Amino acid sequence: MDLPGSPGTQPGPERESVGASDAPTTPSRALAELRAGNRRFVTGTPRHPNQDAVHRTAVADGQHPFAVIVGCSDSRLAAEIIFDRGLGDLFVVRTAGHTIGPEVLGSVEYAVTVLGTPLVVVLGHDSCGAVQAARAALTTGTTPAGHLRAVVDAVVPSLHRAQAQGVTDLDGIVDIHIAQTVEAMLGASAVLAAEVTAGRCAVVGMSYRLAAGEVRAVAGEPVDLAVEPAGAVA
Ligand SMILES: [Zn+2]
Repeated sequence: MDLPGSPGTQPGPERESVGASDAPTTPSRALAELRAGNRRFVTGTPRHPNQDAVHRTAVADGQHPFAVIVGCSDSRLAAEIIFDRGLGDLFVVRTAGHTIGPEVLGSVEYAVTVLGTPLVVVLGHDSCGAVQAARAALTTGTTPAGHLRAVVDAVVPSLHRAQAQGVTDLDGIVDIHIAQTVEAMLGASAVLAAEVTAGRCAVVGMSYRLAAGEVRAVAGEPVDLAVEPAGAVA
């Protein structure tokens, strides 16, 4: 089937429903859609779906994003670009080092319970500055000034876990921090955990490579992609 906004999608009344009826409604289909978009981005064949004026108007009355992205604020990690999506597709919450606090959790819960978004992705990346800052603070025994301390404090448990596992390279630590964030989110949000248990939502961790532009799953993937491969929805 055609992706919303893809070539072949006709303008007119059919476009009115784009974003509502055509958006993935299951965790597996949502994940497949993200992976398909990332493949287009990596290979230099983006479609830039749902970025036209018609779609902008169509989604003005309501949003039905199919994925929540809880990503690092890093300027090179723009969600709609790396997943080749457009307006109304992704509900994005970004903090340095994808650290989570009450406002982040509340935003995720809003998307999942009010908007019905079926997938939450914790998105980290290689060479993450927040993880580097936390490691430097831990190594030197110093405390960052101002509110940066809150970011560092939120990453430190992941550093301890990495240390316990003998992981010392930065990107390996990043993977552990992504997994830690997935666990922390589910542990701190009973609302989100209940949605996952009910099968209405999945929470996965992904790591993005800055140079290559590709994402890979690193944590929590209870989604059976073998049942609904990317090709089935792309
Ligand atoms: Zn980062």
